[in-house]
Amino acid sequence: MQSIIQFMQGYFEDRTAANNTSCQSSDPFRKKYYTSEYLDDYRKSYDNALAFELKEPAKVLSVTEAAQASVVTTLEPMLDRQVPFRYHLVPCDGTWRISRREWQCFLCKGTGKRRKMTCDRCGGTGWRHYGSSDA
Ligand SMILES: [Zn+2]
Repeated sequence: MQSIIQFMQGYFEDRTAANNTSCQSSDPFRKKYYTSEYLDDYRKSYDNALAFELKEPAKVLSVTEAAQASVVTTLEPMLDRQVPFRYHLVPCDGTWRISRREWQCFLCKGTGKRRKMTCDRCGGTGWRHYGSSDA
């Protein structure tokens, strides 16, 4: 069985490669629809994000293994900052599959509380994911 740390390292590396390929393949689209000034700003922003990612690469903060679903918390570069994420992994053919990827709730910053009440954005969990209400 592949370790979760090995799986996540492979995931981060492959995701970076996939993002680069995706960015290159959409270049003709951007050139067709955007001004050169806009594209210069876009490239500058993209280059800055890549430089930040090289300086502060994604890292695993914790792993909690369980029989049915393991949970991994990470810190990942997003533009010019590090953002906490949480992955739910299920075993599959000697390795893992991501069954849910959550990001820290922006409004309550992961506390689950706003103005001493349950955060209505994340329902008090401190995390959001695709499929959660209006994610
Ligand atoms: Zn929240």
